[in-house]
Amino acid sequence: MKQAICPRCGQPTEDGLCSQCVQETTELASCPNQVEVVICSTCGSQQINGKWQLPGTLPLQDLAAQAAADSIWTHREMIQPQIDVDLKAVGATRYLARIDIRGNFRGRSSIVQCEIPVRIKKVACERCSRMAGKYFESTVQLRGSPERAINRREIEEAKKMARDMADSAYRGGDQLSFIQEIKEVKGGLDIILGSTQLGRRMAKAFVERFGGRLLETAKLVGRKDNRDVYRTTLLVRFPRLKRGDIVSSRGVLSVVSGFDGKTTLITSLPEGRRSSMSQEISEMAQILGNKADALSATVISVDDDVLEIMDPETFQSALAARPRDMKVGPGEEVKVVRTGDGFIII
Ligand SMILES: [Zn+2]
Ligand SMILES: [Zn+2]
Repeated sequence: MKQAICPRCGQPTEDGLCSQCVQETTELASCPNQVEVVICSTCGSQQINGKWQLPGTLPLQDLAAQAAADSIWTHREMIQPQIDVDLKAVGATRYLARIDIRGNFRGRSSIVQCEIPVRIKKVACERCSRMAGKYFESTVQLRGSPERAINRREIEEAKKMARDMADSAYRGGDQLSFIQEIKEVKGGLDIILGSTQLGRRMAKAFVERFGGRLLETAKLVGRKDNRDVYRTTLLVRFPRLKRGDIVSSRGVLSVVSGFDGKTTLITSLPEGRRSSMSQEISEMAQILGNKADALSATVISVDDDVLEIMDPETFQSALAARPRDMKVGPGEEVKVVRTGDGFIII
């Protein structure tokens, strides 16, 4: 093997710099002059690489220490570098991070030390500034009709669905998924939203849940950054029938169990056979009551086809057709719906 001389220190070496000079001249780690942590003063979310993250649960000093540790560069031949951060507050929004970086470089343990000033910058995130600025992109309108008003139960269910959807889309990373306002208006509900995409998804979910038709209209409201800005209105017109309605059509009693496009899904009473009704038949079917209005009634006596029950409101005895497979005895409770035509057992 050729014997050489280290050009830096004059010690014998195999080739180039000796290993000690390599250690001394190689930069093993470096720290930036300053680190900035950008957080939203309203919701506490943090901006990382230009993108707003969901608000975390980390205290400010942990965010500062994390940001300092993340900002450090280490030589790729540093084996398992260990970074220790000692953070000191130097003001309300300023910290000083003292850093120890320990690792192994070409068989020798090394340590690099530095100090990084960390500044906390509080701003309003895009979501919070849009919310504060009453910004909205779409309105979902839920409407009944003169012969079929939207009831309290549906209003409350729709509000909950809207809040859950906006919340889960936000948690899924859509910053602009927020509800600006939910307004009860004459004839229904207006849900005012931060994004059109959320509005479309929400309107679709309402049609799947309540049935009916969706009408989308867009209005040009101005220009921003050389782009036309539209506001979208998504009108969901509820159908005549609602879930749980007990309907009579061609002499068959059924319960409305859901919707599929323009078709109403029904389950026959008492057999429980599933089928569907076209829009035309749905318009004509006689509505006898709704399952949600069911009451408990005590059975007085049982016949093959008929149950004698006690009217839960008048305490008079009444008769109702007995569902074929129903096993029930005197003294037990059954669920009944009062109709203009007597009780229906469900
Ligand atoms: Zn040397
Ligand atoms: Zn915010």
